[in-house]
Amino acid sequence: MAHLLVPPMTANAMAHLLPLSSPLSITLCFFAWLQAFLVVHGNTNNITNPSSLTPMNRDLYHSSGDLMEEIKALVFRHPDELTLDTMKSRNKGYSAEIAVVTYCRRRQETDDQPKLRILLSFGQHGRELITSELALRILSILSKEQFLPNLDPASLDSTLDKLLIKVVPMENLNGRRLVEAGDLCERRNGRGVDPNRNWSVDWGKKEKDYDPYEENPGTAPFSEPETQIMRKVSMSFDPHIWINIHSGMEALFMPYDHKNTTPDGVSSHQMKSLLEELNQLHFQKRCMVGSGGGSVGYLAHGTATDFMFDIVKVPMAFTFEIYGDGAASSRDCFKMFNPTELGTFNRVLNEWSAAFFTIFKLGPEQLGENYSKSSVPTLLDKWVSIDEYLEGYLVERSSRYGKKMEVLELGMQEIRTYFRLFLLSSVLLMFMFCSRISKRKCARPIVSAIAI
Ligand SMILES: [Zn+2]
Repeated sequence: MAHLLVPPMTANAMAHLLPLSSPLSITLCFFAWLQAFLVVHGNTNNITNPSSLTPMNRDLYHSSGDLMEEIKALVFRHPDELTLDTMKSRNKGYSAEIAVVTYCRRRQETDDQPKLRILLSFGQHGRELITSELALRILSILSKEQFLPNLDPASLDSTLDKLLIKVVPMENLNGRRLVEAGDLCERRNGRGVDPNRNWSVDWGKKEKDYDPYEENPGTAPFSEPETQIMRKVSMSFDPHIWINIHSGMEALFMPYDHKNTTPDGVSSHQMKSLLEELNQLHFQKRCMVGSGGGSVGYLAHGTATDFMFDIVKVPMAFTFEIYGDGAASSRDCFKMFNPTELGTFNRVLNEWSAAFFTIFKLGPEQLGENYSKSSVPTLLDKWVSIDEYLEGYLVERSSRYGKKMEVLELGMQEIRTYFRLFLLSSVLLMFMFCSRISKRKCARPIVSAIAI
């Protein structure tokens, strides 16, 4: 509202007294504008008071560049277990890249035993810096450079032998860079689209409380390079467990985000019992547990977790919210989404990394029972079929969809051109018609005068 405030003596008033082009008037106008700016700016300051906002704590948090350097160095030190891929995508002049770290114990040994696949994504929202710090901590524990208390190394090894884990430490690097440049409330990607509203399940639906700034879903499902990359990773990896890690509150969510219910069936029951066990073991039951849409207080459409569950058919698809300061002002984003002191910072990382290693242990046990009971194809079969699916039907469908949109756009352009031509020709016809009538009107008296 501040931009509507106008000071009493403005450039307009002075323009009545002096000709606008005179140097004196220009100078006075400039000072009037400056006064207006200062008054308005002063008022805004009184309302927002930026000095009370918590800045990014650079002693606790890595910059995005430093964090990626740490991860690269970790991968370099553990080539037998860790690999790093950087995936890039581009759409209409906007490009993004995502680093994906793959953990596989004893990678170089030939091991035909199918492994349970886990995909973890951190930093989908730029302002949630703590999540990427957790990614680094988990990778450090996986590569045994850091340790969890009360975790027996032998049982950890036997757990990790069964797993193939992909970690995306910073899904939304462009958004994160905006936050580091000072826009501490930015959650969207580098061109203002929310990467967690750009997926295809129930995409674009707007609730009454829809916030166009925060929840911009993009121009179409998968319009954003970040989402395109993550779709590709998830479809080709075909995980059994997917976890989308966020901050803003403490919660363990399962599908659905776009409706107020949890899915039916065995896997829903398994997800819920795993989450309740985690809540009991690591969080003294203080986390919210249930469907995202039913628990968070608003429905979210076009989210990654709903896509993973409904389309990729991930049996266990979760969204974790690892920290939130409910007492922080809604404009004090750094404080609202991230711990600001060392004690809390360490507590969050310790508790949540322990919870993830509990999932690594319990998840396969729960899913193993499910797989032996149901007629789900073997992991290897599923791997092949999903690849074919990806190469064939989906790619074709998405390109067809893309073409459809282009055709529609071209059609609209043509319609606009025809409409302009139609208007122009109508005006010309009207002009010709009127000029003929006026000629006739003028001619008649002359003719009759001659005849008579
Ligand atoms: Zn978030």
